[in-house]
Amino acid sequence: MSVNERNYKEILARTEAAGAVLVAVSKVKPVSDIKALYDLGQRDFGENYVQELVEKQALLPGDIRWHFIGHLQSNKVKYIAPFVHLIHGVDSFKLLEEIDKQAAKNNRVIDCLLQVHVAQEATKFGFDSEEVVLLLDTIDKYKQLNKLQHVNICGLMAMASFTDDLEKLKQEFATMKALSEKNAERRTLKVKPETLSMGMSGDYELALEYGSTMIRVGSLLFGARG
Ligand SMILES: *Cc1c(COP(=O)(O)O)cnc(C)c1O
Repeated sequence: MSVNERNYKEILARTEAAGAVLVAVSKVKPVSDIKALYDLGQRDFGENYVQELVEKQALLPGDIRWHFIGHLQSNKVKYIAPFVHLIHGVDSFKLLEEIDKQAAKNNRVIDCLLQVHVAQEATKFGFDSEEVVLLLDTIDKYKQLNKLQHVNICGLMAMASFTDDLEKLKQEFATMKALSEKNAERRTLKVKPETLSMGMSGDYELALEYGSTMIRVGSLLFGARG
């Protein structure tokens, strides 16, 4: 099998020691690789592309928790709404409204994370720190008006800069940690973002040190994506 069992055991042990969740990122990898990791006990898997996710979900065991970690277009929400476990990259209010609508059609409440662009690169999707706070306030107001009842904002997600500059990474993770703590203190009725999804193959250990509660690891488990 082309799954790195040694890496899996090691990463899982570190993740669990930190009280966090490991999401195995299986984008572009075959169903047989996912099944191999599933057979080792892994249940949380992350995918970036809607069509690929839908096809794989149909072929794999029903107790897998599917995380959507890519850039989600509003017109594709309907395809994953029946089964998706957590949508990591909510980057607009419009997208959130669409998730709410599709979740309602499926009689579900879908867990979502707001994506924060903490990295300096202009290409990264997401909100800045101030926008996140404003958005949480807005969502609270909607919830109090009995709207957005089918989405649950349970945390924040970030992608750090793609760099080996350790100081820069630390700074970005620290920013996210502070933002997450600040917002987790909100004692509003409905919106308490406590999950912090950050850390990938190259930086997951640092992310865990900085309070990540959910890491998304692909290439260390499944090999490089070519
Ligand atoms: C691909 C991807 C990952 C995993 O990246 P690796 O470096 O292979 O661990 C994590 N998060 C997101 C959002 C991704 O697109």
